[in-house]
Amino acid sequence: MRLATLSIFAAALLAAAEPAEQAYLAHIKYLASEKLKGRGTGTPELEQAADYIAREFKAAGLKPVDSSYFQKFPVTTQAKLGSKNRLTLTMQGKKTLVKFNEDFIPLNMSSSGDFSGEAVFVGYGISAPEYNYDDYAGVDVSGKVVVMLRREPQETDDKATFNGRVYTRHAQFDSKTTNAKLHGAKAAIILSDVLSSGYGEIEKFAKNAGPANAGIPAIMVKGEVGEKLLEAAGLKLREIHEGIDKDMKPRSQLLGNVSVALRADVSREVRQVRNVVGYLPGESNEFLVVGAHYDHLGLGQQFSMAPSMAGKPHFGADDNASGTAGVIELAKRFGAMANRKRGILFMAFAGEELGLLGSSFFVNNPQLPLAKAVTMINMDMIGRVKDGRVFVGGSGTGSNLKAILDGTSTHGLQFDTSETAGYGSSDHTSFTTKQVPVLFFFSGLHADYHKPSDTWDKINAVDAVKLLAYVGEVAEKLISQERPQYVRVLPPQSAHSGTAQSSGGSSGGSSGYGPYFGSIPDFAEPPKGVRFADVRDGSPAGVAGLKAGDIMIGFDGKDVGNLMDFTVLLRQKRPGDEVEVKVLRAGQTISVKVRLTARK
Ligand SMILES: [Zn+2]
Repeated sequence: MRLATLSIFAAALLAAAEPAEQAYLAHIKYLASEKLKGRGTGTPELEQAADYIAREFKAAGLKPVDSSYFQKFPVTTQAKLGSKNRLTLTMQGKKTLVKFNEDFIPLNMSSSGDFSGEAVFVGYGISAPEYNYDDYAGVDVSGKVVVMLRREPQETDDKATFNGRVYTRHAQFDSKTTNAKLHGAKAAIILSDVLSSGYGEIEKFAKNAGPANAGIPAIMVKGEVGEKLLEAAGLKLREIHEGIDKDMKPRSQLLGNVSVALRADVSREVRQVRNVVGYLPGESNEFLVVGAHYDHLGLGQQFSMAPSMAGKPHFGADDNASGTAGVIELAKRFGAMANRKRGILFMAFAGEELGLLGSSFFVNNPQLPLAKAVTMINMDMIGRVKDGRVFVGGSGTGSNLKAILDGTSTHGLQFDTSETAGYGSSDHTSFTTKQVPVLFFFSGLHADYHKPSDTWDKINAVDAVKLLAYVGEVAEKLISQERPQYVRVLPPQSAHSGTAQSSGGSSGGSSGYGPYFGSIPDFAEPPKGVRFADVRDGSPAGVAGLKAGDIMIGFDGKDVGNLMDFTVLLRQKRPGDEVEVKVLRAGQTISVKVRLTARK
């Protein structure tokens, strides 16, 4: 088309569109700049981003809630090695001090404390009923320190009883240390590889990966030291190791003539981080929530899809400067409107990448009553629209949401509304579990996801602005028309695995092996136990009468301190087993029997 044939109206639209794209992109350029270093939760750069968003909210005319644009919450950001780590082995009456950092090192999930006493060898330290394998069968480890091999049996064998060369979850450090604790051990020693590579090596202390406390002192020790330890008890480590791999029969036993004295010194850093919150009041006290997370991976030590690039800023232009910029632009648009029937709460969440922490904190500590929240709109990764296609999740969670979406002009985009249940690995899930209808906007995954190459120059601002026009119209309807009633949609069983990153396992959710339970864990863990964000109707937990808000403190006669405990305990059961489950509900301890089923 020649320029001369453009109508004046179309030309005006074009001229108007350009500044909108520039304004949208300007936020992304700043949030995903070299200066903000990837906005890692717990970093000063995240705080700069929060200040920027709060300034934009204020300029848009939003009001602070509780006299502040910020809602603070604590986050465990990293584990640190203390200076008092010490390991002494007494073998046949002779004391040996093991070199810290060279021959042994605490794992980042280790608790701190002193332990001394007898040692028990427990093979790989694995209890796996699904493979008919249990290193703890017939051996009493209570009050002792357990010594185990890392990884799992037959790890170099394609036809292994376990999963061939691909490690199962039993091979993970947190799985092994939790299993040791649940069997009553007081400390855990994991030996570096004896038969494969890495014999003379210990892992580096990973301060960023999984700083959750396993509740037991846990260290990694060099294979050579382990060999001496077993030798003192008259055993040959290599023979035992090869023996287990050959016949899959555990060789667990007390190590006579050996005792261990361990002091583990690991601390965890807790930082205050901030959700940014701004309010546009309406005539009624009902309100719409429009939100996006503004944190990303920082320098990418954790959850990076390009681990070799750790130390380089993971800019997170699409994930999720794109959604944050969307929230700011919608705040400006609605802030300029004179009045409205319902209010709008604009939110930028921190801690999303660590497990929906900011949104979870908000829904558990709402500054405005959640019963008045008509819908939550979440935008996470909206900057890379391809071929005009946009994914919209959650349309089934409100009685008239689908009708609203269908009745809104598409602005030339195509919307895929096939996910109706409102569960996924982003912040809207926190609202779904509190029975607030949700809509989740997402332009799709791409090769730059969670990599330093997620940069602002790859943002498709033209389509993002079209999408914001669409979201804006949907929002207008939600603050003026009939309020959607929450509808509970049963998600497919596999819908929750994506959020496992935060908690070391989807526990009772779905993915993987082991029996099915049917609870959905809350990502903001209580001080002790596992809080259910939701319990699926018809699931074993649901049939037993367990409910959202219950805090599980016991499973099958064992204490449940955290999500990993529950994950490991559940895995040790089989479909068809009946277990006693203890939960706290309104301060009362309730005990129910749950009949576990197979995963579908
Ligand atoms: Zn992400």
